[in-house]
Amino acid sequence: MDQKVLEIIADLKSYLEYLRGMGIEALPATGRESEDSHSNLTLQTLEEVRKELGDCRRCKLHRARRTIVFGEGNEKARLMFIGEGPGYDEDVQGRPFVGKAGQLLTKIIQSIHLEREEVYIANIIKCRPPQNRNPEPDEIESCYPFLLKQIQAIQPKVICALGTFAAQTLLNTNAKITALRGRVFDFTGIKVFPTYHPAFLLRNPERKREVWEDVKQISEWMANKDEDS
Ligand code: SF4
Repeated sequence: MDQKVLEIIADLKSYLEYLRGMGIEALPATGRESEDSHSNLTLQTLEEVRKELGDCRRCKLHRARRTIVFGEGNEKARLMFIGEGPGYDEDVQGRPFVGKAGQLLTKIIQSIHLEREEVYIANIIKCRPPQNRNPEPDEIESCYPFLLKQIQAIQPKVICALGTFAAQTLLNTNAKITALRGRVFDFTGIKVFPTYHPAFLLRNPERKREVWEDVKQISEWMANKDEDS
């Protein structure tokens, strides 16, 4: 099949997954009904999403966590960074990306002349998995809808997906990060730029240059968007 067609099918799949995460299980058949159903969709603020999450025990990760790492940053951020899940430092402090990998992320953000406070930072899951293992499918299924609601509340123009897990979940693909980085994808009208996770960069510093190139691409895309508007 034509590569373009495959990409459109993948985008459509990812959009349907996104709607499912938002609690929409069926689509109306006609355009008119579609308009009506959109007007019925109430969007939550970040505060409301946090309130709904509460002292979440929706998956088994609640058992060993110390804190829920909801996410932080500018509620109207144009750029969101999404990683995999909290590690030790994040679990202790209740904030995303505050350990060594977080310090590197701060430098990455600053390399495109932004500060952490100007972007929004979150993860696919909000509680630390034991021994930092990968999140399991049932855990993602329970937690991901809240990230989708956060994205809806913030409405960023661009998402930088950090690492395999974030990129695969957002784009609903099994492709490796090496095949995804350096490219741009559409996620319900939001541009997604996958790149390596800062923790991977700490172990493989020779890959930093590729991340610098990826975030430069984000910066250029946002600058072009400013010129258009
Ligand atoms: S990982 Fe998400 S769904 Fe699971 S307990 Fe934590 S907040 Fe709830």
